[in-house]
Amino acid sequence: MTKQLIAGNWKMFTRKETAEALASGVAERAGRQDAADVAVCPPFLYLQTVLDAVAGSRVGVGAQDTYWEEEGAYTGEVAPQMINDVGCTYAIVGHSERRTLFHETDETVNRKIRAVLASGLTPIFCLGETLEQRKAGQTEEVVSSQLRKGLQGLGAADLNGFVVAYEPIWAIGTGETATPQQAEDVHALLRKILEDEFGVTDSHGLRILYGGSVKPDNASAILSQPHVDGALVGGASLKADSFADIIAASRKPGESS
Ligand code: PEP
Repeated sequence: MTKQLIAGNWKMFTRKETAEALASGVAERAGRQDAADVAVCPPFLYLQTVLDAVAGSRVGVGAQDTYWEEEGAYTGEVAPQMINDVGCTYAIVGHSERRTLFHETDETVNRKIRAVLASGLTPIFCLGETLEQRKAGQTEEVVSSQLRKGLQGLGAADLNGFVVAYEPIWAIGTGETATPQQAEDVHALLRKILEDEFGVTDSHGLRILYGGSVKPDNASAILSQPHVDGALVGGASLKADSFADIIAASRKPGESS
């Protein structure tokens, strides 16, 4: 079984000094437990600071977004090749805040995923339904469509080590968490589509993370679900202690759920 991945999305928080201290704290605490893989995704400007702070540790670093072109006259944008060039491993793509506030669509998400893969980075591809969609019984339809559109044109060979993050929008930053069963049901559905339509097998090591108000006190209930392969953590990743407690709650390889 692939190790779970616990990734922190710092969003537009921290300053240089606090980013450095947080990254060092995570590296130090993550070093004491190797059950899960660990990553942090700080703001672009602090990627280098964080890369330096975690150097030599087992903490991977990712960007929170990327553009899809390699280079060119795209003022303000950052290419995946640049993110890779400085030593990052991951790039989050399609976070609901980007979709909602910055008008990203399934089509631009797909372009970004392809570009991230071409650069050698691993995408953390986010998808999830709104509260209205859940209440209307549309969750399955919405997440299936986001998955298929985000991965359009890709096949099993592209999905080695790939990361999907199921993040119900109503659970992000709200303190509302999906129940472990709600998360498990969606993860099982996504896994089935990935297997049936994209040819993904266990050997691909593809992980499906859950994200949405994961905290130390609910982490183990969610992370013990059979189809949950880790967590994407926002608020609780901004404190080294709470992030470390979530890492400690991860399911160890071989441990039954
Ligand atoms: C996120 O931003 O991806 C997230 C899951 O945030 P939070 O944990 O704060 O809900």
